[in-house]
Amino acid sequence: MHHNGRVLPTVVEVELVRARLPMLAPLRSGHGTETARDLVLVRVTLADGSTGWGECSALARPTYTAEHSAGAWAVLRDELVPALLADRDSGVVGHPMATHALAVARTDANLRRRGDRRLVEDLGARYGRPAERVPTTAVVGRADAPDDLVAAVGNCLARGAALVKVKVTPHPDDIAAVAAVRSTWPDLPLAVDGNGTLDARSLSQLDALVLAYVEQPAPSEDLLQSAAMAKRLGAPVALDESITSLAMLEVALALRAGQVINVKPARLGGVHIAADVARTAADAGCAVFVGGMVESGVGRAVALAVAALPMCTLPTDLGPSDRYFARDVTEPIVTDDDGLLVVPAGPGIGVVPIPNRLNEAAVDRLILRS
Ligand code: MG
Repeated sequence: MHHNGRVLPTVVEVELVRARLPMLAPLRSGHGTETARDLVLVRVTLADGSTGWGECSALARPTYTAEHSAGAWAVLRDELVPALLADRDSGVVGHPMATHALAVARTDANLRRRGDRRLVEDLGARYGRPAERVPTTAVVGRADAPDDLVAAVGNCLARGAALVKVKVTPHPDDIAAVAAVRSTWPDLPLAVDGNGTLDARSLSQLDALVLAYVEQPAPSEDLLQSAAMAKRLGAPVALDESITSLAMLEVALALRAGQVINVKPARLGGVHIAADVARTAADAGCAVFVGGMVESGVGRAVALAVAALPMCTLPTDLGPSDRYFARDVTEPIVTDDDGLLVVPAGPGIGVVPIPNRLNEAAVDRLILRS
């Protein structure tokens, strides 16, 4: 089977691991609340015994995109993995996050097989010299009260975030909380993420707070509304959920629906697709950053390899593992003394699940063989 012009070796075994990682604090956004991450991790084994890992970062419920953990588990088990093991096309439509998990696991195994090459360097050879340290945006969930949000932002700044992004809805309490952050730190690079929920009134109130960008103010499919908002707003509009493919990016660019692009490798279905989206957006004059899906170390390391590419000019939403989890399934992704995220130095995607931590987190495991 061919992949990026190379012949990939045969996959002989795939393990699916449904993992549940308790979060340090619930993350509240316009599309719901996550108290534990319910992820599907994928291990592939090649004929020569090389192994690689990938992660499906769909949320537990289909509230961000149509994918969700239980559905991803089923589509991997019944469709994607059997097709891969039989070396045939799956014919599956959609399911980019499940597809991405399997593709990354295969890429990881292949890089390790070929003399322990690193994903970040492999991408860098094609897309430009990658950074080894990446500035981060602290993404802060909705708070119950303005003081709580100000305290949460203060914690993030103490840890070296370059930009702070707050999850918002049109609710007056959310707007008041962002206003409190702005009045506490008049010069703070501050952004908001509406996850498709914002209206004209909340937008104009938020725009008065001098924001670095307003992410996904309009529903994902409504690029015309996003374009109308982009025309009215002083702050640039960032597109996240809207950018489901390179083709959708081209439509968004043609409509001038956003000036900032949030690239998520999992949502786009692959690291090379994500890098192509980042390059196309940057070439069109957009600012680009890599967003997060509250990944485990596996998915976080993969997204960080894309965030390290030179087209990603804004701080990444990816944070260190200990921003979200007491114990990650891999060695934690960390920041240095300046608050910069350190791209893991290991081969392949840079990290591997630690067996006893994976056992602790695993709620279901399944091995399929050719
Ligand atoms: Mg977003």
